[in-house]
Amino acid sequence: MNHVPEIFGSMVFGDDAMRERLPAPVYNAFRKCLEARQTLDLDVADAMATAMKDWAVEHGATHYTHWFQPMTGVTAEKHDSFISPAGDGKVIMDFSGKELVKGEPDASSFPSGGLRATFEARGYTAWDPSSYAFIKDGTLCIPTIFYSYGGSVLDKKTPLLRATDALDRQARRILALFGDTDVSRVIPSCGAEQEYFLIDKELHDQRKDLLFCGRTLFGAKPPKGQEMDDHYFGAIKPRVQAFMNELNEELWKLGVYSKTEHNEVAPAQHELAPIFTDVNRAADHNQLTMELMKTVAARHGLSCLLHEKPFAGVNGSGKHDNWSLCTDTGINLLNPGTSPQNNARFLLFLVAMIKAVDEHQDLLRVSVASAGNDHRLGGNEAPPAIISIFLGDDLTDLLESLEKKEVYDPKDRTDLKLGVDVLPRLRQDTTDRNRTSPFAFTGNKFEFRMLGSAISISCPNVILNTIMADTLMQFADELEEAEDFSHALNRLIRRTYREHKRIIFNGNNYSEDWAEEAARRGLLNLKTTADALPYYISEKNIAMFSRHRVYSESEVHSRYEILMEVYAKTLNIEALTMLEMARKDIFPAVSAYIHDLSETAMQKKALLPGVEMELETSLISRLSKLSSEMYRMTEGLEKDLRGVRLYSDCKALAEYYRDVILPDMAAVRAAADEIETLTGEDYWPYPTYSQLLFHV
Ligand code: ADP
Ligand code: MG
Repeated sequence: MNHVPEIFGSMVFGDDAMRERLPAPVYNAFRKCLEARQTLDLDVADAMATAMKDWAVEHGATHYTHWFQPMTGVTAEKHDSFISPAGDGKVIMDFSGKELVKGEPDASSFPSGGLRATFEARGYTAWDPSSYAFIKDGTLCIPTIFYSYGGSVLDKKTPLLRATDALDRQARRILALFGDTDVSRVIPSCGAEQEYFLIDKELHDQRKDLLFCGRTLFGAKPPKGQEMDDHYFGAIKPRVQAFMNELNEELWKLGVYSKTEHNEVAPAQHELAPIFTDVNRAADHNQLTMELMKTVAARHGLSCLLHEKPFAGVNGSGKHDNWSLCTDTGINLLNPGTSPQNNARFLLFLVAMIKAVDEHQDLLRVSVASAGNDHRLGGNEAPPAIISIFLGDDLTDLLESLEKKEVYDPKDRTDLKLGVDVLPRLRQDTTDRNRTSPFAFTGNKFEFRMLGSAISISCPNVILNTIMADTLMQFADELEEAEDFSHALNRLIRRTYREHKRIIFNGNNYSEDWAEEAARRGLLNLKTTADALPYYISEKNIAMFSRHRVYSESEVHSRYEILMEVYAKTLNIEALTMLEMARKDIFPAVSAYIHDLSETAMQKKALLPGVEMELETSLISRLSKLSSEMYRMTEGLEKDLRGVRLYSDCKALAEYYRDVILPDMAAVRAAADEIETLTGEDYWPYPTYSQLLFHV
């Protein structure tokens, strides 16, 4: 595909298009507002809107939409056409600055967690000029934030922008201490690796669980799973390759740096990794990637599953959030570098991250909490629910010797004299070996690996940015007061490491020993969403969010409530789907099979009196016993579902689903899966795991 450079970004109204189409004074005024984070004058907005509209119409667009990210986790859009009456029954294509910068979709059907009284349905969208507008399906999409009449945020983009600003402010205070005063902005960079499953659409549509819940609620393990490890990086099948080619092309047109694609560990599982970019655009791009994966798959007769655990017994899907901090002058602050000056700065940012992660394990866990992801964290495939940092041996040894004030002896490693001490040139392989760690330093960035495949990356990055901002603020407060900077810096690095090194773990995170060791170290182990979410609204966290103007107290509460409710609703839908599948499809199927077995037995008996009928009788008896058992389990599940009425508090309700409904569902499933293994394939009402996983 040698036309990639031409198509890349062709559907984006990016910097080139702006420069080409806007009068120079307008373009300059726009850049200035963007850099100073100020609002545009209306005449500049009008000129921008006209240029954007002309560009969009030339590229086939007829409509525009404010594209926003409500708290549902997916994106929302309401299309308006550009047409405007021009007399004589004619129309012109028109778009004003006012329409560009502000919109007013009806907010009443989006979750607000109590932030918006029902009588006050108004919600507003406002243009985010730091992410480019683009054309999707004939519509000009303008990235926007979404907020209520009273000014509370109702979306996932606003807090991300706020947290990014907070981090920028604090990081520049630190840089100033190192004399890096030419930096005018520090920007978190992010590359989100996305895992997903691709299965045949026709098979997918035959399963109510996949249709309603995005995951299978029943399904016996196939004879072959992932034990042969023959799928990982295996040859990509032609149908999947055709899907990937089209997906890449669509993403490139939208300016998404889709870079690598490969098969993952589980059968039918794949991964896409983009080249990193600034965190705001990375979040927009990840939303677009997930959306396009679904629509492009459908064009190929495939279904893309983004759920964290579509199939029991094979790996689920996650997302790796690669995160670093870059300056607008091009420095990656988490790059160890080669000069002593850079090393000292690097070490300070490194220990800041160690402290931030240790002090805010709770929030990091909250940021990846969902009913779907609960199936992964803790299984032997994804990191456990316990947060720890992998640093690798080189860096850990170095920090250890710093702490003990020993001269670090890097043996065969490159020696570098440094303000604080000696820092070895990191060997790539020592920082990237551990795949089990939830939070790994990988050479020049951190990789947060606990994210579920379906979630928006906004919240995890809001948390990363905020906890880092808070830590850097404390560091800056201390260092700005210091009389001897170098001395204070040394002390601060040593002390921070000593106080927070319990969070570092370079071993196997999947082992049982680690869970015990982590408990001894006092690390949190929040196994489910219901366990994790209450930490969101702790006093310390609310204070931190307010301190950095990321969330007000009521905004944090609203998010907590929405997440709790979504957890309960998800499990409720799953439980109801299970009951429907059991009663409408599975029980009738087993009965039909038992009936046919009995018929066969009777005919055999009439034909050959005295002959053994072990096959039929033993199958009938096992199936009858199992289906009665399963029936009792479904009755129990239904009865317990009626019990939810007793809980009005969202926390108590979520706990009830976790403690009562989930175990009920597991019991129903266990019986059903055993029945499936004994039932004739022609009788079973759904495509099996073998068909779903090995059919594409
Ligand atoms: P893997 O994790 O599979 O070994 P890589 O280490 O090559 O792969 O990169 C994984 C992801 O990390 C990619 O999306 C890449 O763009 C991203 N990445 C690389 N450098 C940075 C950085 N400085 N900041 C944020 N993300 C980065
Ligand atoms: Mg990775």
